[in-house]
Amino acid sequence: MITVIQLVYLASATCFVVGLHLMNSPATAGRGNLVSAAGMGAGVLATVLLIIRSGMITTTGWAVLLAGIAVGSVAGLLSARTVRMTAMPQLVSLFNAVGGGAAALVAVGDVLRGTGAGAPVALDVAIGAVTFTGSLVAAGKLQGLVPAQPVVLTGARAINLALVLVMVVGGVSLAVFGPNPLVTTVVGVAALAFGVTMVMPIGGADMPVVISLLNAFTGTAVAMAGFVIHNDMLIIAGALVGASGTILTKLMATAMNRSLASIVIGGFGTGDDSGPLTAEPTARVREVAADDAAIQLAYADRIVVVPGYGLAAAQAQHEVRELAEVLENRGVTVSYAIHPVAGRMPGHMNVLLAEANVPYSQLRDMEEANPDFARTDVVLVVGANDVTNPAARRPGTPVSGMPILDVDRAKSVIVIKRSMGHGYAGIDNELYTNPKTGMFFADAKAGLASLTAAVKTLA
Ligand code: NDP
Repeated sequence: MITVIQLVYLASATCFVVGLHLMNSPATAGRGNLVSAAGMGAGVLATVLLIIRSGMITTTGWAVLLAGIAVGSVAGLLSARTVRMTAMPQLVSLFNAVGGGAAALVAVGDVLRGTGAGAPVALDVAIGAVTFTGSLVAAGKLQGLVPAQPVVLTGARAINLALVLVMVVGGVSLAVFGPNPLVTTVVGVAALAFGVTMVMPIGGADMPVVISLLNAFTGTAVAMAGFVIHNDMLIIAGALVGASGTILTKLMATAMNRSLASIVIGGFGTGDDSGPLTAEPTARVREVAADDAAIQLAYADRIVVVPGYGLAAAQAQHEVRELAEVLENRGVTVSYAIHPVAGRMPGHMNVLLAEANVPYSQLRDMEEANPDFARTDVVLVVGANDVTNPAARRPGTPVSGMPILDVDRAKSVIVIKRSMGHGYAGIDNELYTNPKTGMFFADAKAGLASLTAAVKTLA
């Protein structure tokens, strides 16, 4: 029996690796999700068999276990089905919280039973508890329940240092002298407090990177839980999440031209990007109306759409696809240029456009899209700002060094956004004052719909 269970665990782990590989492309990502879910389902079944075989579970234990599975499954299914795409980072953060919290509780259970080795217990409790409170604070900030701006407590450094010291001394004591309920509690409480003090000083717009970091923590805590209860599948699954979360965090920080240290220290991203600013278009900005913009689009040969955070905020993915279809019916070639950090989470634009059934074949990543801008008649920028800002090409600005979509190399540019408001980086965009740019001030959803209507009226 044990051999069969181990083989199922191995098959589950293989499913996770294959699933992750399939998630490399939007075309296969759905299948990747299913393969990973099948692996997880098989792993859970094998674990139930393991529990039955151990004979250690009582009737009450079964009731608690089954109730937990039922509540968790219903909550997971409902939230995944109903969450808005723009609220996805909060949901991921809550998943991180429950993952980290559950991993920490596995170690606590082990300590209460008086079993287990000290080092994995210490790491599991510390990382799991930091992840639990840190992720709850992060989700609260994104949901507007906790102030989104960086909150720096007086003496924060000294408090953090003291908390880390308690965790290290307690952890070493657990590793050397073995599990002990009192020391475990002290380490757990310090870690819970550290999760709060670590995330509070981080600005709202930096939260997605922090969530990715906390995701890596969850994986690491789960792997430690695997060592605590000697479960190979937990070790492999946790290590995969830990490693991929770390790689993603690094990629996001690099794509934003930010160091992880500066994000964790906090204070950046304090600009409010949630609403339009009052700044009026200056004289140097050329404003275009829907009719003029529609003529430009309808009589072009090649158009590239550049979606950004504003498209997600307006939920305008269906309207952009509709406009593209109307233009394609007129013989215009339409493609989409996707910047790696457009929006507020990795793959944000791919997910939105896939939801609106935009064909994958029309999506171009930055490396593919950039050489083609010079041959493009019109670039339609929809709610994107920083990822198109030419200021990134010279030193001394908050976006300096960030690779951008070279939309200013196209023959003409139309930008749809509501005002001259800033993006995440909080700076003016030099693209808007470029003579070849026409600004179409509108909400992305309403603006795209009026463009589609205007194109339809043209012969
Ligand atoms: P930006 O945040 O730079 O700009 C978005 C623009 O959308 C704003 O200027 C805003 O202007 C406009 N907007 C907002 N709501 C609407 C609406 N309803 N209709 C039309 N326009 C709207 O977005 P980008 O996608 O260009 O750049 C992403 C930024 O986020 C980068 O700086 C990146 O580093 C950062 N980031 C990305 C992460 C990721 O993983 N993708 C993670 C963390 C940060 P206005 O108010 O005038 O309408």
